[in-house]
Amino acid sequence: MKTIRDLLYFFPNRHIDFTRIKTISELTEGPDQTIAGTVWQAQVKQMGMRRGTELVIGDETGNVRAVWFNQPYMAKRFMTNMRVVLSGKVNIFRGQPVFESPEWDIQEERAVHTGRLVPVYPLTEGLFPRQVRKIMMDVVEVWADQLPDFLPAETRERCRLIDLSDALRQAHFPETVTAADKARARLAFDELFLLQLGVMNRKREWQASQPGVPLNTELPLLERFIRCLPFEMTVAQKRVLGQILADARRPIPMARLLQGDVGSGKTVIATALLMVAAANGYQGALMAPTEILAEQHFKTLNSLLARLVPAATGDPEYIRTYPGLLDNPIKLALLTGDLAESKKEKLRQLIASGEITIAIGTHALIQKDIEFKKLGAVVVDEQHRFGVEQRSALRQKGFNPHMLVMTATPIPRTLALTLYGDLDLSIIDELPPGRQKIKTKWVESGDRERAFAFIRRQVSEGRQAFIICPLIEESESITAQAAVAEYAELSSKVFPDLKLGLLHGKMASKEKDDAMARFHSGDIKILVSTPVIEVGIDVPNASVMLIESADRFGLSQLHQFRGRVGRGKDQSYCLLLAESPSEVGRARLDIIERVHDGFVLAEEDLKLRGPGEFFGTRQSGLPDLRMARLTDVKLLEISRSEALRVLEADPKLEKEENRLLAAELARAWKERGGEFS
Ligand code: ADP
Ligand code: MG
Repeated sequence: MKTIRDLLYFFPNRHIDFTRIKTISELTEGPDQTIAGTVWQAQVKQMGMRRGTELVIGDETGNVRAVWFNQPYMAKRFMTNMRVVLSGKVNIFRGQPVFESPEWDIQEERAVHTGRLVPVYPLTEGLFPRQVRKIMMDVVEVWADQLPDFLPAETRERCRLIDLSDALRQAHFPETVTAADKARARLAFDELFLLQLGVMNRKREWQASQPGVPLNTELPLLERFIRCLPFEMTVAQKRVLGQILADARRPIPMARLLQGDVGSGKTVIATALLMVAAANGYQGALMAPTEILAEQHFKTLNSLLARLVPAATGDPEYIRTYPGLLDNPIKLALLTGDLAESKKEKLRQLIASGEITIAIGTHALIQKDIEFKKLGAVVVDEQHRFGVEQRSALRQKGFNPHMLVMTATPIPRTLALTLYGDLDLSIIDELPPGRQKIKTKWVESGDRERAFAFIRRQVSEGRQAFIICPLIEESESITAQAAVAEYAELSSKVFPDLKLGLLHGKMASKEKDDAMARFHSGDIKILVSTPVIEVGIDVPNASVMLIESADRFGLSQLHQFRGRVGRGKDQSYCLLLAESPSEVGRARLDIIERVHDGFVLAEEDLKLRGPGEFFGTRQSGLPDLRMARLTDVKLLEISRSEALRVLEADPKLEKEENRLLAAELARAWKERGGEFS
């Protein structure tokens, strides 16, 4: 904390209710009790091995003792006949009530530690509750009034919010519980309101800064592409593609979030957009969070294009050329971080010269040295894995390309609008026909053998299985080791007669490729993997997903894993192994067994874990909200509509009544290094 303002916004974790002052005769055993009385005696006493302080105080109804173990110096703080207030826990000792290490105040002085709603501040080593509380009271008394309220009066009235000084005072030292709630509502509103204003502002600035390129979408190539798909698109897919094409036709760069549950078929949509860019003479880029997924996308796009025209021969394995579809051949390239430097260099040149039409890759695509000649459309897959900066880095590779970000992590709508308020929202709310519900079962550890026997039966019927090893905190290499060990164990003892594969993040990409390719082709029957498999992987013949230590994963993640199976025509199964799950773990397993709808799961997950963990803190670019809870839908809605209203009336916040608001907005964004969300 560097400024007074920082202090004012340093909020307590909670308040202890010491408001009700009892008489000594009313004291019972239990916490949070308060009395006011006169000190009769304060002395240092031997208490067991150590010395402590014993205080005797009385009121009209009797006397009571208070003790502080190990704190003989406390005795000097009290003088006979002093009026004090004590708050704290009461024990009954030999039939008599005793306060144990209570909080205390001198009664004539202001109530800081007792007799009120007492704030409990988060502390670090070297700070003490009484000291911090006192500092905070001083700060609040002197400074809370000095902070001008940046909210326009109209906003305050419309949203029924108390003023800022009041809110700050009551957030620290509330007079009543209701006052504390009102304070929280005001301060939480501020956070959400500023967040939304910022996000909306960013969108406006970005869309106004440079016009986007309007793309022609009436294309024979697009029609042919859709006609040649191996399936008919679902109604939801068609609707969403329609929204995307409508965006692409406009001279404003598209910024759209496509949400669709795992397996809902987002990849074809992405491909269609990239084809549109290509057909208009622009380049397209598709970024995926992992190498495995980038490679899979490369394969998928190639197989879709190969339905239109056979690929030319003679390309290296990371480039594919399709002649005859457009004036220039369509060239797909795969760019990942571990491509040899010479090959990378070659791709860099081909991308810069515009010869590569569609570049598919990992973060490698957004490195500084990659320059596109004419980037017209960008797709970011599994966008929750990327931060805001990465999104905008890719966007800046082109002259405001149209951007589509896709996610399978369903986020409740209001929340999505808040966090990604700079994006329009499309939802694929339908799975391709014929998908069956994946039978999901929590298997207790005693039934491990039966689970393996089940996998064996499925394999003998021609299916394949995944076995996911637990993620071991923090360490990619330890997680990988665990997978190696499990793989060794399973292939030597449990399935010695079957072909198993291994996949983890520490393998060279050639080996990973190999494992994935052999699993795809059906050569490998059981793939033992670390959680790298989580996103995107698509092997329709796999029918069993077994997850070790399933209780350690979040609901959304379990749902992602489960989405790896059930992609073909066969009944699929998800087996969750859990040794002795915690209460939360158990709750999660119960829910995932029952619930198959990703949106419902996301809400449950949010409830169980809170937004921080739900989004995986940093990566999500989630702002650090101190007062607001993202589960507070009502407040989210109010703050959003208010932000829209304010910006509508004064898009650049230039009016006098918005002067302070504009300054506060700038401050809030600057504090976060220019990225509020
Ligand atoms: P996700 O939305 O999870 O990225 P994918 O795009 O990987 O899903 O699609 C999942 C599977 O469903 C793929 O095998 C894909 O070919 C198939 N698929 C996509 N759309 C349809 C459809 N309309 N009908 C049948 N299968 C489809
Ligand atoms: Mg996908």
